[in-house]
Amino acid sequence: MRPQILFPLFAEATSLKGVGAKVAPLIQKLAGPLVRDVLFLSPSGVITRRRTNAAEAVDGEVGVFDVVVDRLFVPSRPGAPLKVRASDDTGYVHLVWFGGSPQHIDRQLPRGERRLVSGKVERFNGEVQILHPDWIVPLDKGEEIPTVEPVYPATAGLTSRVVRKLALQALTAAPELAEWQDPAWLSKQNWPGWRPALEALHAPTGERDLEPDAPIRQRLAYDELFAHQLALARRRRARQITPAPVIRPGLASDALMAALPFTLTGAQGQAVAEIRADLAGGEQMGRLLQGDVGSGKTAVAALAMADAASSGFQAALMAPTEILARQHYQRLSPMLEAAGIASVLLTGRDTTAERRERLDALATGRAQVAIGTHALFQDAVRFDRLGLAVIDEQHRFGVNERQRLQAKGDPRVGGVHLLTMSATPIPRTLELTQYGELEVSRLMEKPPGRTPVATAVLPGSRIGEVAKRLKAAIEGGAQAYWICPLVAESEATDLAAAEARAEDLRRILQVEVGLAHGQMPGARREAVMADFADGRIPILVATTVVEVGVDVPNASIMVIEHADRFGLAQLHQLRGRVGRGAKASACILLYGDTLGETAKERLETLRRTEDGFEIAEEDFRLRGGGDPLGLKQSGFPAYRFADPIRHRSLMLAAADDARLILGRDPDLLSPRGEAVKTLEALFDWRNDRPGLD
Ligand code: ADP
Ligand code: MG
Repeated sequence: MRPQILFPLFAEATSLKGVGAKVAPLIQKLAGPLVRDVLFLSPSGVITRRRTNAAEAVDGEVGVFDVVVDRLFVPSRPGAPLKVRASDDTGYVHLVWFGGSPQHIDRQLPRGERRLVSGKVERFNGEVQILHPDWIVPLDKGEEIPTVEPVYPATAGLTSRVVRKLALQALTAAPELAEWQDPAWLSKQNWPGWRPALEALHAPTGERDLEPDAPIRQRLAYDELFAHQLALARRRRARQITPAPVIRPGLASDALMAALPFTLTGAQGQAVAEIRADLAGGEQMGRLLQGDVGSGKTAVAALAMADAASSGFQAALMAPTEILARQHYQRLSPMLEAAGIASVLLTGRDTTAERRERLDALATGRAQVAIGTHALFQDAVRFDRLGLAVIDEQHRFGVNERQRLQAKGDPRVGGVHLLTMSATPIPRTLELTQYGELEVSRLMEKPPGRTPVATAVLPGSRIGEVAKRLKAAIEGGAQAYWICPLVAESEATDLAAAEARAEDLRRILQVEVGLAHGQMPGARREAVMADFADGRIPILVATTVVEVGVDVPNASIMVIEHADRFGLAQLHQLRGRVGRGAKASACILLYGDTLGETAKERLETLRRTEDGFEIAEEDFRLRGGGDPLGLKQSGFPAYRFADPIRHRSLMLAAADDARLILGRDPDLLSPRGEAVKTLEALFDWRNDRPGLD
C-alpha cells in the first residue's frame, strides 16, 4: 500500500505543467511515466558560466558577454550561417547560427541595443565567436542567466532546459518525509536529508556535485540500494516462512557418497553441510552454489538429490541444453542407481513412448530423480512429491522458468527447495544485486588432478604459427576447441568467418574439423558436439556455444580468436573447458591488430591467474563506471542513482542494514520502520522492475 504522502509523486508526469500530448511520450522515454521519475532524473553535467569580455574570454569556456549589437548578416546562400556582430569595449563578439530565423534573431538582438549573451567561446581569426548562444537577455534580466546550470539528458524535441524546468516542478511535489536512515549512520556519513539531497541534485554547484562520491549522490544512491536490498530481504523472508519438506540425509545419501569415484573436497563438503542445514530446517531453501567451471558442483547437487530421495521426496535437475542434460544423466544415473535411486531423463527429443513411460515414472513416484531441460516444467510433467529443484547454469534460465519448475511441487507437501548453480564468478557486490535474496555457498577449491592451463596472449598475425603447433598436438592425440567469436555486425558475416576458419583448418591440418554455431538447428549442433566429446573429431570450431558446461576431458587446447572482444569472465569460462584431464593444457588468446592498455591488462589478468573470483573482481575494476558490463540487458536492476561499481561499499552496507532492520523489526512497525516503508514505496521495486522477480 502506498502512503498517501507519496501520491503527488506517483501522479502521471502529464500532471506537470508543460507536459502535453507532444512532450509526454518524450519525457516518458527519458525519465518514466511518473512525476517521481522526473524528480529522479539526474543532471548529466553542468555548465559553469563566467562574466568575461572579448579580450579575456578563454577558448572552450562558457562566457557571459555584455555587448552592444552591431549588425546582422543574413546568409548569402541557403545553408550558410546567420551571423550577428556585436562588441564590447575590448573587441568583437560574433554570434553565429546555422538554420536560425533572421526575424527571430533580429527581435532578440535589435541593432544598437545592449544585451547579455552567453555561450561557449571559440576564436576565429583571433576574434571571439559563439555558435548558437545559449542565453540572450536584456541587461536588467541578467539574473536569469544561471552561473551554474545543470544539463539534463535531452532528446529531439525536448531540450535540457525544458527537462530542467520539469524537474524543478517535480521537486515542488516532493514532500518532506520522515528520515528512514539510521541517524548515527547518517551523521557519520555527513549526508543531507532526503529532500535537501534532491534539491541539491537539481541545483549542482559544480561538476564536483555530480561525482558518484559527492555526499548528495551517495545519499540518494544509498536510499536506492537500501530500498532494493529491503525488497530482496523481504523476498527472502517470505521464502523462509514458507513451510517446506524436512529433508535429511539417509541410506541413499550414504550409498551415493560411496558410489562417487572420488572423495569430496573440503569445499564440496562444506557446501553439502550448508545445504543439509537448509534442507533439514523446515524452511524453504533458496541457495546459490557458486563455483568455477570444474569445481565439482554436480556432485554436491547429486548428494542433495540423494538426501531428498532418502527422505521420500523427488528431485529435479534442470540444465539449459540438451547435451548438458544428457551428460548429467549419463554420469549421474549409474551412481544414483547404485544408491537405489531411479532417475529419468526428460528432454525435448524423447520419443512419444519414452516420454509417456518417464512421465508416468515421475507421476507415480517410481522415479525419484528427473534430469532434463526446459522439458521438465512443461504442463504434462507431474511429480508425485517434488521436494528439491536444482537449476544448473542458472543464468541461462529466466526467473519465470525456475518458478515454473518449483510450481511442480505439491502444496500439501510444502514449498520446493531451490538449489541454483552458477559458474559465472561475479564480484560480491553484483552478487548482492542479483542474488540478494539467496544464500550463497562457494566452491573456492578445485578437485585435485587439475592440470594448470598455460595461457598465452598473442597477436592475431601469429595465427599461422598457432595452427602449426596445433597440428603437432593433434597428431599426438590432443583435441582442441577453436573459438570464433561474434564480431561482425551481422550474424551472417560471423558465420561465414567461422565457416572459413573451419575450412582453413581442414586444409592446413588435414584432419576433420567440426563446426558448431548458434544458428544451427539444435540437433545438428549437439550431434557435432557429441562427436567431439566422444573423440571422433579432433577439432571443434565454434562460436561461443561451447560456453556452457560440457565436459570433454581429452580436450586440452583452447584457441580464442579476437579474445579482446570478450569479457574476462567469458574468457575464463571458455578456458575452463580445458585442463580437465591429465594432459598438459594450453589456452591461446589471439587479439586483433592493436591492443589498448586496458585490454592488455585484462588479458594479462587471465594469463596470471585461474582464480575465477579474482578475475571477476579485476574485470569489474578495469571496466570502470557506467554500465560497461551491459548489466541492464542481463537482468540486473537498472539503478537510477546507484552505480554498482562506484558505490560498491554502499551496496554492502545497504544489504547489512536491510537485513538488520528486518531482523529487528520484521513488520516495520517502529518509527524508523514506518519511514522505511515509505522509502520502499518510493522506489517500489516490487512493482517497478518485473525483471527482478
Ligand atoms: P562444475 O562445477 O563445472 O559443474 P563438475 O561437477 O562437472 O564441475 O565436475 C568437474 C569434474 O570434476 C568432473 O569430471 C567430476 O567428476 C570431477 N570431480 C568433482 N568432484 C571431484 C572431487 N572431489 N575429486 C575429484 N574429481 C572431482
Ligand atoms: Mg556443471
